Amino acid sequence: MGPLLLRGGIVDGRSQDVALRDGRIHRIGPGLAADGHDVLDISGRLVLPGFVESHIHPDKAYIADRTHGLRAGGPTPQTLVAELKRQFTADDIYRRARRVVEEAVRHGCTAMRAHVEIDAFVELRGVEAMRRLQQDVAGAIDLELIAFAQEGIENDGVTQDLLREALKAGLKTLGGCPYMDRDQRGHIDWFFETAEAFGVPLDFHADSADDPALLTSDYIAEQTIARGMQGRVTVGHLCMLDVMAPDARRRVVDLLREAQIHVISLPATELHVKARADASRTWRGITRIGEMREAGLNVSISTNNIVNPFTPYGHPDLLRQALITAMVAHLGNLDQLAWLPELITVNPARAIGLEDYGLAAGCRADLVVLDAADAAQAITEQAEKLYVIKGGRVVARNTRVSELALGA
Ligand SMILES: [Zn+2]
Repeated sequence: MGPLLLRGGIVDGRSQDVALRDGRIHRIGPGLAADGHDVLDISGRLVLPGFVESHIHPDKAYIADRTHGLRAGGPTPQTLVAELKRQFTADDIYRRARRVVEEAVRHGCTAMRAHVEIDAFVELRGVEAMRRLQQDVAGAIDLELIAFAQEGIENDGVTQDLLREALKAGLKTLGGCPYMDRDQRGHIDWFFETAEAFGVPLDFHADSADDPALLTSDYIAEQTIARGMQGRVTVGHLCMLDVMAPDARRRVVDLLREAQIHVISLPATELHVKARADASRTWRGITRIGEMREAGLNVSISTNNIVNPFTPYGHPDLLRQALITAMVAHLGNLDQLAWLPELITVNPARAIGLEDYGLAAGCRADLVVLDAADAAQAITEQAEKLYVIKGGRVVARNTRVSELALGA
């Protein structure tokens, strides 16, 4: 296939052509000449930059059928998965993770930053599998890997060394999980020191519970500023902010903004895991997405878990996460639906540091064409992703067929 011309798509709210050449967006405008291009007629169809998964766990995907589900008072998902991880082989991880990546590409994802668990249970088998996958799918998706301490770093004698080993092997981000250790601040300090030593950005799972006394995102923000790492630190979950008093929350949000922390909300997992034992009011566990966006924070949403005890119905379709977010975060008014795609495109691209990303001449030709005229319709109808384009090449083409027989 030669250079592509997308004819008549909806770009920035109006009908325009998009010419792709040498893996980049060459031009955007009405009535572009087709010379030398293969033409795809996408008249009236919404064009967005490729979707970006900024927080996802392919290494522990598709294992829900290997254990039992969650129940009030029962074992946590961490406990259930930790036991299963001992049995993971690199090939097993590779096969399951590849299925995640294939589904993600099919659903419009062109870049993904994935957590790779490193601990005494799975050691470096996830790193081995995910690095192999990263190379095998390089033409279809940018797959970046986080060396992630899901089990904490205080609970065994090997995780700290294994994390350093993974960074030496080329993983480009370091991921902490303070709530898995007793000394949360000690945990956070170790991650900042190690990130500084290796010159890598940080990504924390933090403040996942509902007791503000355990808050850590304020400390993470303070450390980010003190160490000059503004813009290089990401925090996922932040569920705790939802239960804080508005004044206290505002102080934390101001601090996060000052530290230029990137926030990632994980709505599907929060809905499945949180508040199982609440007998009166069921806390939804979603952080204050709209409020934080309005305060000027870079906020994204991501899929997180795929068919495991953390989210048995998890599926790497970010358009689905956009609909869930509209429902659970009170962001479903038409004006809000219009900007919700930012949370799965430009914002996560910024969070994970993608360069030359977006819908403009010179940007990488990573696009998704949706069978809808605008974002509200795309989210509401969960529109088909007609074309997924990576580096100027169509990597997924999808159609949806239905037959109606309504009678005369
Ligand atoms: Zn996660």
